[in-house]
Amino acid sequence: MSGNKFSGSSRGSSTRSLWRNARLATLREDLSGLGIVEKGAIVSEGGRILFAGPEGELPSSLIETAEIIDLEGRWVTPGLVDCHTHIVYGGNRAREFEMRLEGATYEEIARTGGGIVSSVKATNALSVEGLVEAALPRLDTLLSEGVTTIEIKSGYGLNIEAELRMLRAARALGTVRPVRVVTSYLGAHATPVEYKGRNQDYISDVVLPGLEQAHAEGLVDAVDGFCEGIAFSVNEIGRVFDKARSLGIPVKLHAEQLSNLGGAKLAASYGALSADHLEYLDEDGARAMAAAGTVAVLLPGAFYAINEKQKPPVQALRQAGVHIAVATDCNPGTSPLTSLLLTMNMSATLFGLTVEECIAGATREGARALGLLGETGTIEAGKSADLAIWNIESPAELVYRIGFNPLYAHIFKGQRINR
Ligand SMILES: [Zn+2]
Repeated sequence: MSGNKFSGSSRGSSTRSLWRNARLATLREDLSGLGIVEKGAIVSEGGRILFAGPEGELPSSLIETAEIIDLEGRWVTPGLVDCHTHIVYGGNRAREFEMRLEGATYEEIARTGGGIVSSVKATNALSVEGLVEAALPRLDTLLSEGVTTIEIKSGYGLNIEAELRMLRAARALGTVRPVRVVTSYLGAHATPVEYKGRNQDYISDVVLPGLEQAHAEGLVDAVDGFCEGIAFSVNEIGRVFDKARSLGIPVKLHAEQLSNLGGAKLAASYGALSADHLEYLDEDGARAMAAAGTVAVLLPGAFYAINEKQKPPVQALRQAGVHIAVATDCNPGTSPLTSLLLTMNMSATLFGLTVEECIAGATREGARALGLLGETGTIEAGKSADLAIWNIESPAELVYRIGFNPLYAHIFKGQRINR
């Protein structure tokens, strides 16, 4: 994966580039479907798209000084956006996975130190550099499929210093690789053993002061929480969201994954960017999300890995007019998944999303879920030149194939990333 190393070279960002003879799936909202432009061209300069549209409409003034790249009819989509990941952590849970397959119960696994406790322990043992090193193979795998924007959460530290280290590692990943990193503070992910049964104390002692410190260090783009019977109640999450609001930070929430506590409604009442998982969401919750513009982030990797039976209410989301994104939820316990292409396939096969919904979900809607739709997620003039170029005959192949990566090249801020 060394081919992904980012030299930070300035070459490319100031050069004017013209990609021609391309088929574009622009995902533009003012066009129908995938916003397809046959025989299209894209011009970028200074990392921004100057023109994207039919080659025949290309202004000649833009052609003159451009470096011209003939894409020989290849398809171009926006660079992929993975809007929900936990890729920064120590250790892994393969032994626990093996024990479960051999018939061990959750209690037996917990007794041997398994579960989230083991990830917290392994994460706490690592420095920022150690966390970066541990996360890089996961990040590189995602980048090899054309990801240009990734969200990364804290939440395996569960004490202030370790949460800060996770966020610093997330920020560092965005400097050693050509990718836009967006961070979420997830102090309210689980209750550490020393606070067992004392969620409110944990929030007072760790989550809220940790958020203040992380924010002061510029480490927090959004605040997240896990609202669930095994995690935090609506009232407890409300305290965290109140603090986020007072600091002017947007919120998002893991909601309705294993039961319906009304987390999505709570998130919507704070104008959340997204509510994620949503297997147990009801129609009321879907309507509240639509009214607040809260994006539904579906995570089929976790659904698959925990063998969940309840599917998210896709039809209710569509009917209410909720925007739907899809993401890997890459994490060591319930979604050890580092493929957004496979995520798209699972979203179609397991949840019944259409090809258009899957591709939009991993591009435009992922960007919307991060509050970045003005910057990336579609191919149109003014946005960052974040592109994925594919060896495919039709966009449906991106969703249809399993375990196959047809990426030809990808472009981040106008620069080609060598594979
Ligand atoms: Zn998650």
